[in-house]
Amino acid sequence: MNAKQLKEEVRTHIDGAVDELVELSRQIHSSPETAYREVRAAAWVSDLLERGGFRVQRGAGGLETAFVATSKGAESGPAIALIAEYDALPGVGHGCGHNLIAAGAVGAALGLQAVMPRLGGVLQVFGTPAEECAFEPGGKIRLLEAGVFQGVDACLMFHPWTATQLVGSDLAVAVLDISFQGKAAHAAADPWRGANALDGVLLTYMNINALRQHVKSDVRIHGIVTHGGGAPNVIPERASARFAVRSIDKEYLRQVVGRIEDCVQGAALATSTKVVVEKIATIENTLPNRLLESVVRSNLVAEELEFEEGVFIAGSSDFGNLSQRLPSYWFMLKTHPSHVNWHSKEAALEAISDDAHFAMLTGAKVLAMSCIDLFLDPALVRRAREEFEGERKP
Ligand SMILES: [Zn+2]
Repeated sequence: MNAKQLKEEVRTHIDGAVDELVELSRQIHSSPETAYREVRAAAWVSDLLERGGFRVQRGAGGLETAFVATSKGAESGPAIALIAEYDALPGVGHGCGHNLIAAGAVGAALGLQAVMPRLGGVLQVFGTPAEECAFEPGGKIRLLEAGVFQGVDACLMFHPWTATQLVGSDLAVAVLDISFQGKAAHAAADPWRGANALDGVLLTYMNINALRQHVKSDVRIHGIVTHGGGAPNVIPERASARFAVRSIDKEYLRQVVGRIEDCVQGAALATSTKVVVEKIATIENTLPNRLLESVVRSNLVAEELEFEEGVFIAGSSDFGNLSQRLPSYWFMLKTHPSHVNWHSKEAALEAISDDAHFAMLTGAKVLAMSCIDLFLDPALVRRAREEFEGERKP
């Protein structure tokens, strides 16, 4: 059977699953669960894949709301992974449209399942919780640490957006918690006995502002004071701040974080306080695999989608960490009208529109057709790996 026939068959199966897929999307959307609490969503997605013939390992990597669904082909071949996200934003619901990511990945998987007995290789769907969590490591980071992605040759995903775009670059981000420990004293009677932790935080803020002129233009540094003392007549003995630092390059980000740590130490020295800097999360920038991108591009064209090339995404995702460990590619899919503000209630409302669901189905087809191209031509997967090995920085 040739590629064209296989693709037609998969397309028909995806179209045939439309009711189940839209129901899954609506179900996840109607009971939004935030990072690491996606108990119902993970179960619904797992159940549907299991009914479709996948072997599902729930609680993968020791994370209650993660899973790995596997379907083996007739013979050996590449291991291709699709990513399903399903977490919501606190207070906003599905304002990032992750219900569509889950339904799209399942759609592609169920379509491919119909032809897996005629393909060589392994198809896996990874249920990755907690993408929306800036203040602790996201699900993909924890699953990478647990070795869950071992053996995967290539990884694909789409993300809902207001335009269809091939991702050229995005931002790496590090989140730092900075805690100053000073010494309390009466602010009027004997302030000379005290050490002012709040001054430590404020000087840190000023030092970082002085640093801004001397970093590359892609760097973003944004922070808040998370504790500034208890009462004005007491020298604050404890004060803390949280900063996020971003750059398009994780190596340069590392250097900037080092400079920020110097800013913090300078503030501690000036105020005779002690300080602890804790890195609570590091999201790496995406390393878009160009070979996988070319496969996705040809299938965007085949599905007659209009798209932009090489787009810079001014955001961060733990998909970046994945892309730094194995050949990966994600693209943005136009599921929402152009005027919608992202991460808003309006975006959440649009994430279950008919247009969004139609786009999700098309996205599922792009993913599935790309997988077929990779299964049928394992040399492509090898080339993606070679590119990855050549590009990856130590
Ligand atoms: Zn998202």
